[in-house]
Amino acid sequence: MANESANETARNIGPVILLGPPGAGKGTQSKQIVDRYGVPQISTGDLLRDHVGRGTELGLEAKAIMARGELVPDELMYGIVATRLREADCQRGFVLDGFPRTAAQAGWLDAFLEKEVFDNRSDKREKCPPVVIQLLVDYTQLLLRLTGRRSCPTCGRLYNIHSQPPLVDELCDVDGSKLVIRDDDRESVISGRLAAYETQTRRVADYYRAQRRLVAIHADRPMAEVTAQIFGVIGRRFQGGCQ
Ligand code: AMP
Repeated sequence: MANESANETARNIGPVILLGPPGAGKGTQSKQIVDRYGVPQISTGDLLRDHVGRGTELGLEAKAIMARGELVPDELMYGIVATRLREADCQRGFVLDGFPRTAAQAGWLDAFLEKEVFDNRSDKREKCPPVVIQLLVDYTQLLLRLTGRRSCPTCGRLYNIHSQPPLVDELCDVDGSKLVIRDDDRESVISGRLAAYETQTRRVADYYRAQRRLVAIHADRPMAEVTAQIFGVIGRRFQGGCQ
């Protein structure tokens, strides 16, 4: 198992895109891919929250939009995504969580990946097309997941009071910090976020489906089962020649 895992962390897995509404488990499943393949998770929500936290110009612009649960304009997203994808740790691949969220972002990403070479370790300098995985979850299940979501402000560990509660109510198992609810996980904002998903992000799935690049997975199954299916999809890419 250790050897198998060592092999996986040397592989060029290329870009992996996880699609799905807020609460579908994109963050949780991304972390599984990160652990197995040793590639970074790139969450545009986290990148934006980092800008907001540092009070950058972009952060100031994005803050109110995010608090309303709306989408940050595409033009602002392209700069932060391009900068992040050019970093050295993305050369063997990366998991995109939360991007693309509009059809325009999907088109921009295709053009960007076409231009950029991610595997500059290999002589072939092979480019891998993205593996696109859509996580499907029932609406009621989504509401439960989102309203139950808590995170530790100190170590970032995620919990869910319904499905993965901490050992002691509202306190982090690791460092005992008081768990927090993200501003945009409050019930009043959630319906707006799901509506934004419906109107915008569905078109992203349509974009990839039209190109026969979309693999849909039922994500209300147990977490480990969903992870195994995702690994299966990524594993099949190796047979497709992207080593
Ligand atoms: P997330 O953590 O992915 O749910 O993102 C939190 C918020 O950040 C979203 O509700 C949007 O306001 C913003 N956001 C994240 N990713 C994107 C994106 N690709 N395009 C536009 N806005 C985004």
